[in-house]
Amino acid sequence: MSTLRFQAIKESLNRPLVEVKEAERRSAVFGSNVFNETAMRQYLTKDSFKSVMDAIENGSKIDRGVADHISTGMKEWAISKGATHYTHWFQPLTGTTAEKHDAFFETTGDGGAIEKFGGGQLVQQEPDASSFPNGGIRNTFEARGYTAWDPTSPAFIYGTTLCIPTVFVAYTGEALDNKTPLLRALQSVDQAATNVAKYFDKSVTKVNPTLGWEQEYFLIDKALAKSRPDINLAGRTLLGHASAKGQQLDDHYFGSIPTRVLNYMRDLENECMLLGIPVKTRHNEVAPNQFELAPIFEETNLAVDHNSLLMDVMNKIADRHHFKVLFHEKPFSGINGSGKHNNWSLATNTGVNLLSPGSTPMKNLQFLTFFINTIKAVNEYEELLRSAIASASNDHRLGANEAPPAIISVFIGSQLTAVLDELEKVKNGKLSPEAKTELKLNVVGKIPEILLDNTDRNRTSPFAFTGNKFEFRAVGSTANCAKPMTVLNAIMAKQLIEFKEQVDGLIKNKKMKKDDAIFNVLREYIKDSKRIRFEGDGYGEAWEKEAAKRKLSNNKTTPEALKAQVAKKTIALYEELGIMNKVEIEARHEIEVEEYAMRIQIEGRVLGDIARNHVIPTGIHYQNILIENVQGLKDIYGKDFKKYASEQMELIEAISRHIAKINKGITDMINERKKANKIEDAEKRAFAYCDNVKPFFDEIRYHCDKLELLVDDEIWPLTKYRELLFTH
Ligand code: ADP
Ligand code: MG
Repeated sequence: MSTLRFQAIKESLNRPLVEVKEAERRSAVFGSNVFNETAMRQYLTKDSFKSVMDAIENGSKIDRGVADHISTGMKEWAISKGATHYTHWFQPLTGTTAEKHDAFFETTGDGGAIEKFGGGQLVQQEPDASSFPNGGIRNTFEARGYTAWDPTSPAFIYGTTLCIPTVFVAYTGEALDNKTPLLRALQSVDQAATNVAKYFDKSVTKVNPTLGWEQEYFLIDKALAKSRPDINLAGRTLLGHASAKGQQLDDHYFGSIPTRVLNYMRDLENECMLLGIPVKTRHNEVAPNQFELAPIFEETNLAVDHNSLLMDVMNKIADRHHFKVLFHEKPFSGINGSGKHNNWSLATNTGVNLLSPGSTPMKNLQFLTFFINTIKAVNEYEELLRSAIASASNDHRLGANEAPPAIISVFIGSQLTAVLDELEKVKNGKLSPEAKTELKLNVVGKIPEILLDNTDRNRTSPFAFTGNKFEFRAVGSTANCAKPMTVLNAIMAKQLIEFKEQVDGLIKNKKMKKDDAIFNVLREYIKDSKRIRFEGDGYGEAWEKEAAKRKLSNNKTTPEALKAQVAKKTIALYEELGIMNKVEIEARHEIEVEEYAMRIQIEGRVLGDIARNHVIPTGIHYQNILIENVQGLKDIYGKDFKKYASEQMELIEAISRHIAKINKGITDMINERKKANKIEDAEKRAFAYCDNVKPFFDEIRYHCDKLELLVDDEIWPLTKYRELLFTH
C-alpha cells in the first residue's frame, strides 16, 4: 500500500475519542452568546432598547446618538463574556461568510489602554473589499464597499469575537452581498402578504416569512480526506471505484449513530445552543457516513444567517474531532448526494401560519388564498426558481436518480388536489348563497380534517406541500439559503400584489362581495397554474416528456439554468419590487457563470493531475511487475511460458489500453480548457467548460476506475471508496 494511503488509514483507525458531555440543560444555555432581547434589556438603556426593537419590528432607522449607547452596552456585554475583538460579519457573493477582526483594545496616548467600541464602528465599516467578487460593479462605478449593521439579526459571540451581522453594499448603493436582496425581498413579501391577510383579519400588521432548513452532510476522517487531492481541492471525489458494499442495504438510514460521530454532533449542538441556533433533529442519512441536522424554523433572515454560521461552526468543530465535513452535493459517485431542504411558510404578527388550515371556513379561505397564490407564483417563475439553486456541484444532484429533478413542479397531495378541483368548478361571477354555503361547508370547511390524515409524501418532488408549509427540496447542501429565499419571497410578493389588485378590481368594478371576488380569482389561478402541479414520480423519464409537453423548463446545467436570472421578466420583477436593479442582477449572473467555469476548471486540473501523476504511474509500476513475472516465467518454461502467463499478459495489455485512453482524455481535455480560457465572455466561457471540458471527466474517470480494479491493492495510491465510506 502507498505510504500516504497506509498512514491515513492507520491514523484514522487510531483516533482517540474526543468525549463531549452535555454541559448544562440546553434550555439554560440557549442563546447565552447572543445579544438577544434578554441581554439587551440588561445592557441597554430603555431608550436604546426601544430603538433597537423598533428597528427590528418596523425597520426604523437608529439615530447616531443612540447607536453610541447601543455600542457601549454591546461592548460591555461582549467583554463580560470574554470577547476581545469585534467584526462585521457578512455574506459576500462567494456564498460563504466573511469577517475581519478588530480588537476593542485601544491605547490612550499616555501609556495606558482602554476597551473601546463606538456607535460608528457598530453601524458602519469599510472592509478592504476589492478581493470580493463584485461582477464588475465596483469597476464600473469605481465605488468602494461598506458593511452596515443589520439589527434584525442579533449580534453574537463566536470564540472571543463579537460578530455583528451586516449587509455589504457599494457606496453607489448596489448590493454586494446575498443579504441585501434577501432583506428587500422579505420586506416586499411582508407588505404584500399583510395587505392580503387583512382581507381575513384586520389586526394583521406584519407577515414574517419563516424558514426551516435541513442540512445534509458527509463526515470523513480528516486524514483520509487529506489523502485525497480531489476531496482536498474540489470537495468531492473525481475518481474512485464503487465499494463492493454501498448503500444498497439501506442499513445506514436512521441507524444508530457511531459514537465518534455522536460526540461531534454533541459538541456541535452545544456550540449551536450558545449561538442561539435552535437545532433540534439529528440522524443518519441514506448514504454511509452521511448525516442530517435540522433546527426549529425561524424568521427567514435569521434562519439564513444561522445556516451560514452553522456551516462555519461545523467545519471548526469537525477539526477538533479529526473529521472533515463534506458539504458538496455529490461527494461520491453512485452514493446519495446531499441537499438542504428549505421549509418555507408565512407567519403573521398575530401568530397565524398562513399556510396552515384553520378551524373555520374563513380561516381556510385564507389558507387557500396563500396556498394557491404560492402555486401560481411558482408556475409563473419556475425557471427563476430553478436558477436560484443552480451550481456546478448541485448539477450532479438535480436530475440524477435520487434528488428532485431540474424540472420545477409542485406536489400538493391527492386531498388538496381534490379541493382545487372543486374550487375550479366555482361559477363565474357572484355566487348564490346556497352555492357559497355548499362551498364553505363541504369543500373549504373540510380542509383541516383531510390534512390531519394527509399521509401523502412524495419524495421526488422539488417543491412539495407538507401540511403547513412548502418544502423546497431542490436546494443543494452547499447553498446559501439567501438565494432561493430571495427568489421565493420575491415571486410571492409579486403574486400577492397582483392578487390584491384583481380582487379589489372585482369588488370595485363588478360590485362583488369580498369572498366572491376571492373565489373568482382563485379559480382562475387554479386553471392558469395546472401545468406546474405534478403528483407522480419526478425521477421518471415519463415526467421529463410530460413536462416538455407542458412547456416547463428543464435546465440541466448551471449555465443554462442561470440564463433565467438575467431574463427580461426577472429584471422587471426585481426592479418593480425594488429588490435589485439591472446592474446588480447582471453582476450576480456574471459572478455565477465565472464561478461555474472556475470550478470546472479546478476539477479538470485536479483530475488531470491525479490521473497523470498517481494513476498512470501506478498502472505502469504494476505493469512492470507483471512484465517481470512474465519474463521470469519465460526463463523457466521457455516457449511454453504462455500456458502460465496468459492472464498476466492480458492484464499488461489492458493496462496499456486504459493508460492510452486516460492519456488521450487528459490531452484532449487540456486542449478544450485552453480554448475555453481564451473566451472573453464569461457566460460563453461557462458554456464551453460545461459542454466541451466537463464531458471528459467521465471518460477519464472510467478508465482510472478500471485500473483501480486491476492494479494490486498494495500499491494503489489513493484511499479507496470502501475506506472513505466505511471507516469511522
Ligand atoms: P417533517 O416535515 O419531517 O415531518 P417537521 O414538520 O417537524 O418535520 O419539519 C421539518 C422542517 O420544517 C423543520 O426544520 C421545521 O423547523 C420546519 N418547519 C416546520 N414548520 C415550519 C414553518 N411553518 N415554516 C418554516 N419551516 C417549518
Ligand atoms: Mg431530509
